[in-house]
Amino acid sequence: MILLDGKALSKQIKQEIKTEVDALRKSGGNIPHLAAVIVGDNPASESYVKNKVKSSDEVGFESTVIKKDANISEEELLEIVDSLNKNSDVDGFIVQLPLPRHIDPDKIVLAIDPQKDVDGFHPFNFGSMAQGLDAYLPATPYGILLMLERYNIETEGKEVVVLGRSNIVGSPISILLSRKGNPGNATVTITHSRTKDLDSVLKKADIIIAAIGRDRFVKSHQVKEGVVIIDVGINRISDPSRKKGSRLVGDCDFDDLQNTASHMTPVPGGVGPMTVTALLLNTLKAAKNK
Ligand code: NDP
Repeated sequence: MILLDGKALSKQIKQEIKTEVDALRKSGGNIPHLAAVIVGDNPASESYVKNKVKSSDEVGFESTVIKKDANISEEELLEIVDSLNKNSDVDGFIVQLPLPRHIDPDKIVLAIDPQKDVDGFHPFNFGSMAQGLDAYLPATPYGILLMLERYNIETEGKEVVVLGRSNIVGSPISILLSRKGNPGNATVTITHSRTKDLDSVLKKADIIIAAIGRDRFVKSHQVKEGVVIIDVGINRISDPSRKKGSRLVGDCDFDDLQNTASHMTPVPGGVGPMTVTALLLNTLKAAKNK
């Protein structure tokens, strides 16, 4: 089994981005500036934003973090979004999800200027992506495309089964892989919690993309020999042998699948780092578009 090492690949792509940023700096060009808004104290969100800022610093971008208490009102958050839209120093920004219950995430995403929407969540970017027009691709699906491309995994004519239909992973990756192009030109089946007889759907897959948030859900008996597995899921399970008392696992049972799959992403160290790298590439694109 070939490990699809997102950590190593993202390191390589970040080096390529850094080379471009160094050249921009030398020529007096616009240095990309990424801003991140984080609301509340969700430890997972804090760790995601920390990683994004760290990676942004590594490639030579400027970065800004705006941290707000969980009790911030929707109006106040919309004002922050508006000020970032208007701030010409900021090329792109993200509002880390999830948000506290009293804030409607759709309202916030809709308020982001699509030209600065480097997470690729705005319906304008989603629609442009679906029509094959220029767009900021949603970061996780973009990271998956990069991984398939760089590892030379053929998608043309392949049977791809996507588990999960969220707006940020399952739906967009289904659209992207069924589009004309490379990666693309695949026959894609999208599945969800109402799918009947998931096993028979999974069994025909050449490539499985799992994004459901169910710990080690996909097992070797459900898949065919030689399948490529892209595991997006991040699930924390208890593990008394670890200092923390827990560890992260994916939606696919890595240990059980490693003798059946031909290629597989680990969790952690697979899709996660690629998502951050895709965000950096979107920010670089935003800075160049300015
Ligand atoms: P959501 O939590 O928004 O949705 C989950 C999807 O999975 C839904 O479409 C749901 O179906 C489907 N689903 C749930 N149970 C089953 C089942 N038993 N069989 C088939 N489908 C099922 O998904 P996200 O895309 O936001 O997140 C998915 C996972 O990916 C999470 O673990 C998340 O933490 C992780 N993630 C990782 C990222 C990374 O960078 N590595 C980035 C983003 C997410 P239905 O629509 O019918 O409810």
